[in-house]
Amino acid sequence: MAWLHRTWSRLRALARPVPEIPATLWLQVLQKYPFFQALSLEEKAKLRALSALFLRQKQFSGAHGLVVSDAMALTIAAQACVPLLHRGEAEQAIALYDDFVGIVVHPGTMVAARDMHDEAGLISHRRMMLEGEAMQHGPVTLSWAAIAQDPLQQNERGTSVVIHEFCHKIDMRNGGADGYPSLPGHFLGLASAAEARQTWERTWASSFQAFGHAIAKAQRFGEPAPWLDSYGATAPAEFFAVACEAFFVNRSHFAQEWPQLDRMLAGLFRPDAG
Ligand SMILES: [Zn+2]
Repeated sequence: MAWLHRTWSRLRALARPVPEIPATLWLQVLQKYPFFQALSLEEKAKLRALSALFLRQKQFSGAHGLVVSDAMALTIAAQACVPLLHRGEAEQAIALYDDFVGIVVHPGTMVAARDMHDEAGLISHRRMMLEGEAMQHGPVTLSWAAIAQDPLQQNERGTSVVIHEFCHKIDMRNGGADGYPSLPGHFLGLASAAEARQTWERTWASSFQAFGHAIAKAQRFGEPAPWLDSYGATAPAEFFAVACEAFFVNRSHFAQEWPQLDRMLAGLFRPDAG
C-alpha cells in the first residue's frame, strides 16, 4: 500500500484536504468490473470521492503475510462505497461505516469454528469456509481469493463479497444483522415509519420463504436452481446481503427475478430517485 501510506501520512502532516486517487489506478479498478462501467459519469465521480474518504478513514491489514497493494485497497474501497452512492453527500453517506476502522484481508478462504443451532435445539461445532465476515462495531474481514474471482463470472451470478459484507454493516447500524436495516425517511413514499417497516418486513419475509422453498425443491427434486446465491436461504440477514450483492452487481437480472425486492432495495439505496 505504498501510495496510500505515502499520501496519507503526507496528508496528516500538512492537514490538507483529501487527495485525489491517482487517475491511472482509478481507471484500472473501474475497468475491471462491469457494474462500475455501468455507472453514470456523475456516479463515477461520486464513487471516487467516497473511495478517497473511505481510504482515509480505514486501516487495511493483510493476514498471513499478505501485502495489501494500493490496487487491492482501492478495489475494496470502491465496491464498499457503491451502496453509498445515493445516500446523500459523500461525508454524510460515509458515516454509515463510521463504527469501525479495520479491514483485514486474508489471501485465501478462512476457516472459522462455529456453534450451530439446528431446529431441534441441538448445538454442533462446525468448521466453516468463509469468504468474508462483518462484526458489529468491529472489523470487516475479506478473502482476497474471493474478491479476485473473474469479474465477468461475478457479474453473471450477481455476486460481490465486498458488497455483501458492507451491506451487513449497513444492516447492523440499528442492532444485529437481521435483514431489517433502518430505512430512509419517506421510504417509498409511505405515510409513516411504521408502515414502511411493515411493508419491508412483509415483503422480505414472504420472499425469504419462497426462496427457501425454491432451494429445497432444487435440492430434493432436481428442479432448476434459483439464480440468487443459495447461501441466502440460510438466514434473513444473509438473504438481505445476497440480494444486495445481486442488486448492485446485476440489477437487471435481479429486478427480473425479484421485482418486489428490487423496489425495496431501490427505496433503501436510492431514496433520491423517487
Ligand atoms: Zn453474510
